[in-house]
Amino acid sequence: MSANDIKTAVKETSPLFIDGVWRPGSEQQASEDLNPLTGEVYAFVAQASAQDVKDAIEAAYRAREGWRNKLASEKEAILIKAADVVAARTDELRDVIIEESGSVFGKAMFEISYCVDLLRVAAGLVRQVTGETLPMTMPGQLGMTVRQPLGVIAGIAPFNAPFLLAMKKVAFALAAGNTFVLKPSEYTSVIGLKIASIFEEAGLPAGVLNVIPGPSEMVGEILMSDPRVKMVTFTGSTRVGRLLAAQAGKNLKRLTLEMGGKNPFIILNDADLDYAVDAAAFGIYFHQGQVCMASSRIIVEAGLFDSFCTKFAAKAKSLKTGDPHDPSTIVGPLIRESQCAVINEHVRDAVAKGAKLLCGGKHEGALYAPTVLAEVTSEMKVYGEESFGPITSVIRAADSEDALRIANDTSYGLSSAVMTNDLQKAFDLALRLEAGMVHINNCTVADEPHVPFGGVKSSGVGREGGHASMDEMTELKWITTQLGKRGFPF
Ligand code: NAD
Repeated sequence: MSANDIKTAVKETSPLFIDGVWRPGSEQQASEDLNPLTGEVYAFVAQASAQDVKDAIEAAYRAREGWRNKLASEKEAILIKAADVVAARTDELRDVIIEESGSVFGKAMFEISYCVDLLRVAAGLVRQVTGETLPMTMPGQLGMTVRQPLGVIAGIAPFNAPFLLAMKKVAFALAAGNTFVLKPSEYTSVIGLKIASIFEEAGLPAGVLNVIPGPSEMVGEILMSDPRVKMVTFTGSTRVGRLLAAQAGKNLKRLTLEMGGKNPFIILNDADLDYAVDAAAFGIYFHQGQVCMASSRIIVEAGLFDSFCTKFAAKAKSLKTGDPHDPSTIVGPLIRESQCAVINEHVRDAVAKGAKLLCGGKHEGALYAPTVLAEVTSEMKVYGEESFGPITSVIRAADSEDALRIANDTSYGLSSAVMTNDLQKAFDLALRLEAGMVHINNCTVADEPHVPFGGVKSSGVGREGGHASMDEMTELKWITTQLGKRGFPF
């Protein structure tokens, strides 16, 4: 695809959205946003200055009382309208997701339909911000809890599912009565700004949502240290998550972290081989493997190992790679060609230490061929490090206990999967897998707006989605009422 083929290249510099106004950065800075396939400039994006970040926080802070006091029916109506706006603007949003992030057609469409659902789920939760009544020991005392919005929440979003993951943070925060400052990824700022324009069209009052692309370290530091920001919700790498956790500790800031993964997909001897191959291929090659829950460690019991490797490599080789606009393309470009070097190093290191490269291991520009490494062992980098690309390891396990040991032999703990017809064994493994999510007879890639998505160990702190988000994004307050006078000891 040449530069001329970029269908929706943005001609004007995309402005920031602060306090309901589209404006350039106060220091007139802009950065280039590239099309991952062509490497051409897709858009120029205004960059927030420190003053712009503070303005965004101030706008959200001023808007917080008005938003929290809006009737539930009014908040609901705006979230439902936003869902309708997303659906009506599908073609526009799809093209941005394809061209700015290199998503293939189907993945872009998935993000859009997910967001329509997500906004409806969030609308449905507006009236479910509930507390409880509590029996009190004190005679004549009534106890209750109420859930209240935190105030201003900030979100820092990644590039890989840039619409869905940023929208998840915004939608539930607004549903819980908070106002929001969003910093999208530097690779996908245009789709982040589209979220602002969607809510603008849906009638969200000024200041309730502010979107500020900008230098990540500077923006992050201000968001983490400003006392008006009551919570930061982050999705991205474990490296950056750790930095933010240190800052949160210093500032006593509420923080949720959705981070990386090296997700085990256990396939036992009795699994249906063809189904397992299809599931594993989707699990690792969906969005070129740039998925936190990608099936990046496929652990196969010895009896099925050789036949799985043969069929799986054949399937990987058959997947069409190329132009993400073409609906038949399965594997599109990585976010940047530079990411290929990480994958090349994982392949080189593994092969040098005895792994077998069954297919792939090469790239043209940012298009990395679907890659399978077999006989991967724990000394290899690819065994433990996140590759974030279309590469997976097939690891031999002696039996189901050995498979569990290998699965848990990682610092990560996001998603996992077990494929077997023996449901008793599957449940037993599910309970002992060190992961926030386990899928039986499925691959590791799954997400829905209402589920508590998240990980353990180095993959996450907190949960995102549905009631879990509403709990994370509200404060629980205990209130008592004394009916009549109570006695005091002195
Ligand atoms: P990243 O950590 O490089 O960037 C994520 C966000 O953090 C971006 O907006 C970036 O600008 C910002 N950032 C970078 N440095 C920062 C700093 N010092 N202070 C504040 N913000 C900073 O991650 P990425 O490359 O965009 O995304 C890929 C990673 O995200 C992978 O590790 C993947 O597993 C993870 N991820 C996790 C989930 C999940 O739900 N667990 C979902 C998607 C992606």
